[in-house]
Amino acid sequence: MKEIIASVITIGDELLIGQTIDTNSAFIAQQLNGIGVRVARRVAVGDQESEIRKALDEESALADLIILTGGLGPTADDITKPLLCNYFGGKLRRDQATADHIEWLFNEVYKRPGALLPRNQQQAEVPDNCTILPNPRGTAPGMLFQKENRIYISLPGVPQEMKDIFIGSVIPFLQKNCKTPFFIHKTMLTAGIGESMLAEKLVDFEETLDRSLKLAYLPQYGMVKLRITATGEDQPTLSQQIETSFNQLKALVSEYLVSDKDEKLEEVIARLLLEKQSTLSTAESCTGGRIASMLTAMPGSSNYFKGGVVAYANEAKESLLGVKHSTLSTHGAVSEETVREMAKGVLEQLTTTYSIAVSGIMGPTGSTPDKPVGTVWIAIANNNTIKTRRVQLGFDRIRNTQQAAIIALDMLRQFILTKSLD
Ligand code: AMP
Ligand code: MG
Repeated sequence: MKEIIASVITIGDELLIGQTIDTNSAFIAQQLNGIGVRVARRVAVGDQESEIRKALDEESALADLIILTGGLGPTADDITKPLLCNYFGGKLRRDQATADHIEWLFNEVYKRPGALLPRNQQQAEVPDNCTILPNPRGTAPGMLFQKENRIYISLPGVPQEMKDIFIGSVIPFLQKNCKTPFFIHKTMLTAGIGESMLAEKLVDFEETLDRSLKLAYLPQYGMVKLRITATGEDQPTLSQQIETSFNQLKALVSEYLVSDKDEKLEEVIARLLLEKQSTLSTAESCTGGRIASMLTAMPGSSNYFKGGVVAYANEAKESLLGVKHSTLSTHGAVSEETVREMAKGVLEQLTTTYSIAVSGIMGPTGSTPDKPVGTVWIAIANNNTIKTRRVQLGFDRIRNTQQAAIIALDMLRQFILTKSLD
């Protein structure tokens, strides 16, 4: 079976000056990958006729499917529609269904009834050589052209409108009209080992991996996702192969394995806490509430996260968490003794099963000879035990903070798991 190759062209000056981050092509690439279409290239161009034409010519030489976003608005800078009409040799015609939809949007959704501006009415003019892809939430419809066995799909730039049309019309069209290969992804999450070290461990595994399978490393702060993708036609064999290899991989990285699903560390922690009907509190200094923020970003976190204290200054550590003045003056705020008392303090204040405490020097200033930038002390506590760890991070302030939060959450995960074995 011939593989379908896609290109994504995003249009808009705002993308080239960095004002808007191109989230559209990431979404489109994920969606296409999900149905077995390989995206070979992503290109961004400005709102300029010659640039858009050049991109169309170049991508047509490479791809079977070309998806464009942007340049479909009612303003003068949006030129994609007449350009495509012309590029494919068509003429603009008025489409009554689109005109009715625009009128309905202005009356019922935007609540701006009255005469439509000519520029809004013009959005109902569509090339007579395209298939219209309805835009439920917006005035500019998507357009699908076919030429010389290639498919061209033009979508609005507004991310939500683009997504609606993509899910509602583009995916069903591709599934119906293109023969795509069978595709399975299986993903696991590891923590506590960098991607290079992981790759060293997995040299033999990768060498013996079947050709229908591909291993990808997806590093993120302090963690690496490992994804195996199986592509081909024989679905039962592929399912079996991926299952076997995935299990082998799990065994090889067992020491670092956080989850054998495509999920976040916070989701794993949520599950563990809910299963054991346990609660959690945090006492954060250098991470400034980042751990609490990661936890509360999860829906339903109120079922296990009781709250957190951001105790940045020494006075706050004393008054809010009960850290002893003598501990701070003898050992300093970034010390094992201080994080122990912070963890104990918040555990008692909020009466939770577990607590996390973090104190460190995130840089670029604040180092001392025995505590360089990146020194972080972490404590995890329950009523019986306090586990502590000193880590040395070597990044900038933002990354150090993110990394410290991940390490602390992973320590909590391991603490819960080992405590449940006791
Ligand atoms: P347009 O269809 O060109 O009128 O785009 C409308 C708006 O969508 C722009 O002002 C951007 O804010 C947004 N937009 C356009 N292209 C993209 C893209 N590739 N990724 C994310 N947002 C975009
Ligand atoms: Mg634009």
